[in-house]
Amino acid sequence: MAIIKDRGFILRTFDFRETSKIAHIFTKKSGKVHGLLKGFRKGKKEFTTSLDLFSLNEFIFYQSRNPLWLVSSADMIYNFPYLRENLEKNLIANYIVEFIDKISPLNFPSSEIYSLIKESLLFLRENHSRKILYIFQIKALQFSGFKPSLIFCIKCNREIINKGYFSVKLGGLLCPECLKYDKFSKGISEELILSLKYIQKNDFKKALRIGLKGNRETELIEILEEFISYHLDTKIKSLYSLKNF
Ligand SMILES: [Zn+2]
Repeated sequence: MAIIKDRGFILRTFDFRETSKIAHIFTKKSGKVHGLLKGFRKGKKEFTTSLDLFSLNEFIFYQSRNPLWLVSSADMIYNFPYLRENLEKNLIANYIVEFIDKISPLNFPSSEIYSLIKESLLFLRENHSRKILYIFQIKALQFSGFKPSLIFCIKCNREIINKGYFSVKLGGLLCPECLKYDKFSKGISEELILSLKYIQKNDFKKALRIGLKGNRETELIEILEEFISYHLDTKIKSLYSLKNF
């Protein structure tokens, strides 16, 4: 059994047996890890963290072939206080970790996903929450292999010039001639197509320069939600709290 020191974000926690806790953690070196913290609820001194959702912690793991890795120590590094004082930001942070937990395979490192979690949580501090939400969704889909095709028609491969129809089912844009392949596809504006491409192509910080106005922003969020609920066969609970907000 190798001993690994690593840091990671808390995606989910639940009680285990009498005194222990299990945490789903997205770590820097090992991707998603399921960690067992024995005696956590008895207040063992090796654990100086409260394991709050989306907090960043430092861990010592005993790596094993068993999917559950033993955690011998856990210390809080940062718990993002500004995300615990504002309800909307809090819901988005919860959505981010729930989404990552759902899409991430176990023990599969991804520096892209690790940085995406970190940047989304940090940029939520100063930025418009809904903008962080859709940039996060577009990038999370891209990094996990669900990238919608936006440059060429997914049926005939012709370049989409100014009018495209977004097909949730087929996973990208159709040209006007191929519209017949999915009657439920939705016409989307050139501005939206350009924004989607821009976010896919640029890093998070540059993507923040996007300035979609009211209706366009709602249109984008609706398309993404439909795409996500179609392609990920599980429901993301915190989305419902977000919608009711
Ligand atoms: Zn076509």
